[in-house]
Amino acid sequence: MPRPWDRLSPRDQVRLQESLLRSLVRDYLYPFSPFYRRLFDEQGIKPKSIRRLQDLEALPIVQRTDFEPTAADAWRPFRAMLRPDEESLSRWAHRDVLRRVARERLFHGDLAAERLLAEEFKPVHLHVPEVGPVVGYTMRDLSGLSQAGARSLAVLGAGRTDVLVSALPYGPNLPFWHTHYAAQGSGMAAMHLGAGETVRPAQTAYWMAQTGTTVLVANPAYAEGLLRGAEPAAFARLRVLALWATGGMQGARERFTTRLRTSGAPDAMVSTLFGIPEARVAWAECPTPPGNPEASNGYHTYPDLEYLEVVDPATGQLVDEGQPGELIYTSLDWRGSVLLRYRTGVALRRGLVYDPCPGCGRTVPRILPDISFLDWHARVVGSRGEVRVDLADVLPVLWGAPAVPLWQVEVLRGAGPGGTDLAYAHLGGALREDAEFLQKQLAPYGVRVRLVPLKELGRRMGLGTERPEQRVVIRPPER
Ligand SMILES: [Zn+2]
Repeated sequence: MPRPWDRLSPRDQVRLQESLLRSLVRDYLYPFSPFYRRLFDEQGIKPKSIRRLQDLEALPIVQRTDFEPTAADAWRPFRAMLRPDEESLSRWAHRDVLRRVARERLFHGDLAAERLLAEEFKPVHLHVPEVGPVVGYTMRDLSGLSQAGARSLAVLGAGRTDVLVSALPYGPNLPFWHTHYAAQGSGMAAMHLGAGETVRPAQTAYWMAQTGTTVLVANPAYAEGLLRGAEPAAFARLRVLALWATGGMQGARERFTTRLRTSGAPDAMVSTLFGIPEARVAWAECPTPPGNPEASNGYHTYPDLEYLEVVDPATGQLVDEGQPGELIYTSLDWRGSVLLRYRTGVALRRGLVYDPCPGCGRTVPRILPDISFLDWHARVVGSRGEVRVDLADVLPVLWGAPAVPLWQVEVLRGAGPGGTDLAYAHLGGALREDAEFLQKQLAPYGVRVRLVPLKELGRRMGLGTERPEQRVVIRPPER
């Protein structure tokens, strides 16, 4: 038995990551990705020169705008896809692949040989983000998602004997399918009920009570509604509430821990899953002691599938361990679509750390919360004049207001005095006194509070649609 990836020493991790990187670039990326082949050629970089992780620094960083459709090229969102054809396969494919295909053809015929190639290369499952590259999974990738997903559930302390209910909305998105494949990979019994208009909280609660659900995965707004309305029987056996995180989750764990205590699940633990579509599998947060739900040990990543870097967003230079910066993503062991040095727009406020996790001992790189995004920075006029605000500082104030069932932060770029931004906290189903109290707390950040009917806010947040809930909305300047 090889040692599991989650327990390798950092040195062994780097050694194996480098061998995966060499194989990816030489055998798959350069031969089969027209986008990257052109990038390598334009920069005069030979695929064989990418041997060490540091060698990636020679490559330019790519970003979402590189994958935005233009009038001349509507296919740009698909540029991350590997596109082998007969000619490039016979010229470039690794001899092991060719040998396996030849053997398959000899024993089982042409169709079987084609199927073998398709398993490796043909994207059979697509995720379509609103911006950024379309993400394609081959059969091999789906098996990878299943295994990595099972690892994410293991980090949450869930396994084969659990019963999982997912109340994440169905759609061509990572949250739903991560949870589907993760549950399958771990061999647990699971029901993927969807959310909102598909399955009402009362029905979800009914099924949770009937099946003795031990793990619930949901968006925070849905979990909130469920916990407020359902009979305690629904949560009688619940051990883990896994919230799909939007970033800025400080305060949310405590809020939901308290909510669970009063809803009939005194021992259940709250944790979060965080993922970006481009990284293809979500990162799970290591559980924290029940007495101190906000003392998070961070999100456990997958060094065998991806290589993560943190750079100063202004200069693109790497920062030291545990320092803030933008998360840069590189695929290591995926096929359908592949990204090298991709700017995620995720702003890590406490960076990446590599020491063994104090909670579980796993040695994988960890993303420390709290997580923000580069476009979560606003310039607003507050009670003490103009201030620069990171919305990840505003969200904890709102998570910490249990009397406000639903809220959303909205930023209107350039709509304030002198071209500053306007920032609002829309509160749904809140009392006037609570709104006034919050207004005082949010005034230093220049955030104005607005009361909105609960249903109306739910609609604005996209609850009940296939999208993840919209906790934060950034509106570009009106032209
Ligand atoms: Zn851990």
